[in-house]
Amino acid sequence: MNESERARRIVAKFGGSSVADAASIKRVAARIVAAKQAGNEVVVVISAMGDTTDELMDLALQVSPQPQPRELDMLLTTGERQSAALLAMAMNDLGVEALSYTGSQAGVITTAQHGNARIIDITPGRIEKSLEEGYVVIVAGFQGVSQTTKDITTLGRGASDTTAVALAAALGADVCEIYTDVDGVYTADPNLCRTARKLDRITYDEMLELSSQGAKVLQIRSVEFAKKFNVPVRVRSTCS
Ligand code: ADP
Ligand code: ASP
Ligand code: MG
Repeated sequence: MNESERARRIVAKFGGSSVADAASIKRVAARIVAAKQAGNEVVVVISAMGDTTDELMDLALQVSPQPQPRELDMLLTTGERQSAALLAMAMNDLGVEALSYTGSQAGVITTAQHGNARIIDITPGRIEKSLEEGYVVIVAGFQGVSQTTKDITTLGRGASDTTAVALAAALGADVCEIYTDVDGVYTADPNLCRTARKLDRITYDEMLELSSQGAKVLQIRSVEFAKKFNVPVRVRSTCS
């Protein structure tokens, strides 16, 4: 079977700015429908809408100066759950069946460290089954479930990137596409540096260097996963 005949398995992650309101959720839904109708198997990882995570954090601090980390994670993970369910609704209206899953349902198993848990295993059986049944699977990013305490955890700010790359590795995806508000990785933050150049390709080690210097286009742990499991990662603009 040549490449064009084989169904490609794609993990596509959409960041918060890509799903900031109902209209953008519908646009993202249409984009995923096109990828599915082109014959691909598609797993979507979604971030919370716009500034939802910051707003939930502010709300927590208004009710408690030092929220319990367990409860904070219960609260913050609702952001991704909202966008996942909304995206599934929008996709179903476009005639493509989609199922949303929390990180826990998707099999993202983590350490117990609330607020900054690490992914230690992924048990993607449920995702595999849904893909086999023809669904597009939508996974709430940034979250998992502790192997020991069974409590819901979050993986650190910006960690939907890490959910996406880790899932791509576990599912043997052909590519992990990171959709965001810039059209690629640049030599420096293109929103701050007018002379920044877009890079056609970047090695894992070079990207690790950029991420460690604070380039939030890819969370550093996602790059570590990509390097360890040799996952091809492509940064793309949601708008183009
Ligand atoms: P998302 O909400 O999609 O996860 P982020 O805000 O986390 O998006 O990451 C995208 C942002 O990363 C860009 O808007 C850009 O300002 C910033 N950024 C920092 N360094 C770089 C870089 N070297 N190349 C591209 N973008 C960068
Ligand atoms: N919503 C989370 C955050 O704002 C995770 C993410 O967007 O990747 O940090
Ligand atoms: Mg981000």
